[in-house]
Amino acid sequence: MTKAFFYIIYFVSIMDIERGIKMALLIKNAKVYNPEFLGVKDLLIINDKIVKIAESIDEDKVISILDCEIIDSKDKYVVPGFIDSHQHFLGGGGEGGFKTRTPEIKLTDIVKGGVTTAIGCLGTDSVTRNLRSLLAKARALEEEGITTHMYTGSYRIPVNTINKGIREDIILIDKILGVGEIAIEDHRSSQPTFEEFKKVIAEASNGGMLAGKAGVVNIHMGGGKNGLGYLYKIIEEGILSPQKMLPTHVNRSQELLEQGRDYAKIGGFIDLTTSSSEAVEEKNQCAADLKYLLDENVPYQNITLSSDAQGSLPRFNENGKMVGMKIGKVTSLFETIRSAVLDYDINLETALTLITKNPAEIFQLNSKGVIKEDHKADLVLIDRDDLKIDTVIANGKILFQNKKPTVKGTFE
Ligand code: ZN
Repeated sequence: MTKAFFYIIYFVSIMDIERGIKMALLIKNAKVYNPEFLGVKDLLIINDKIVKIAESIDEDKVISILDCEIIDSKDKYVVPGFIDSHQHFLGGGGEGGFKTRTPEIKLTDIVKGGVTTAIGCLGTDSVTRNLRSLLAKARALEEEGITTHMYTGSYRIPVNTINKGIREDIILIDKILGVGEIAIEDHRSSQPTFEEFKKVIAEASNGGMLAGKAGVVNIHMGGGKNGLGYLYKIIEEGILSPQKMLPTHVNRSQELLEQGRDYAKIGGFIDLTTSSSEAVEEKNQCAADLKYLLDENVPYQNITLSSDAQGSLPRFNENGKMVGMKIGKVTSLFETIRSAVLDYDINLETALTLITKNPAEIFQLNSKGVIKEDHKADLVLIDRDDLKIDTVIANGKILFQNKKPTVKGTFE
C-alpha cells in the first residue's frame, strides 16, 4: 500500500464516520503556488477541506473508494483563493444624487474575479444603506458559496453600528472583523478630529482582542494634504498598534503613494485599490504603482490589494461637482496581479501574496490564504500560458470552470 493511499483510507474512514463525505475532488498535476512555489502536486479535497497534498495520489485507487471528480491541471497554476478586504456588497455611491447609487453585488461578480473570501463595507452613504442589510447580504453570499465577513461602522464618525458600539458589534456578531471604511482627508468624510479617529482605533482593537478577531480599521484615504498624518500620530503616541490600521486607496495620488511607501517601511500596512477612477489607457496603473513600491524596497509583506468592488468611482471637478462615475469591479484585483507579472516582471509568488497570505494574516483568517493540508479548499486554477482564471473552487465546491460560472446567485 502506498503512503498516499494509506492517508486516503485514513481520512475517508475518519470523515466517513464522523460527518459523511458530500464532495470529493482530486486535482492532478497541479503546479502549486501556496503562494510560495511548492512544485507539481496532486491535491485531494474532501468536503470543504484540502485533506492531502502529495507528489502523486493514485486516481484509480481514489475512485475505487470515493465518488470523486478528477481535474487534470497540467497546464494550470493552482493558487489560493483570493481575499478581497474591501467590497461594497450593497453597492455604494450616490455622489450624483439617488440615481447614482450603485447596485448590489452578485455572486458571479465576485467568483469570476477568483475571490473566495470577501469583506464587505458600507460606503459614502450610510443613511439609505445600513449595517443590518449589509449583514444580511454577507450571509446571503455565504449561503451561495463563498466566505464573507464585514466591517461595522461607516464613512462618518460617530460611526453607525448594529449594537451599542463598535466593541459590542465586533464581540457579538461573528461576521464583523473590524471597522470600515472610515473616511479621512476627504470632502465626503465627517472631518473627524484626531481624538475621534483614535477612539475608533481603540474600540476596534479592544473588541478584536476580546473576541479573538483582527479588530482592524479599514481607513478610506481621501486626497487631503494631511495624508497619513493621523496614522503617524498613532504610531508616535506608541499606545495603539499600527497593525490595527489598514489605510486603503493609498495609490490615489503619487503624493499619497510616496507617503504610503515611507509608512510601510516603518511597519505599517498599506492597501492599494485596483479599481481605478482614472481611465488609464491599456496600462494597469495599480500594477505600475505596485512596481514603484517594490522598487523602493517596501516590504511586500506590508502591502495588500483590494478591489473596492461595486463602489462608485466618481470624478469631481475643481468646484467639487461630480463630472463622471464608474463602478469598481472585483475582476480588477487579479487583472492587476496579472499585469504586475506580465508587464512589470514582478514574480508570481510576490504578487499572489498580496491578495492571499497577507490579507489572511492581517485579518486573522486562519485556514485561508495559503494552500495547506487541513486548510479550506479555496483554490483558483490559472492558465500557465496567459494567466487567465479558468476555475474557482470555494469551500471545496467548483463555482467557476472553463472560464464560466457553474453556480449562479439566487436571482441571477
Ligand atoms: Zn473608499
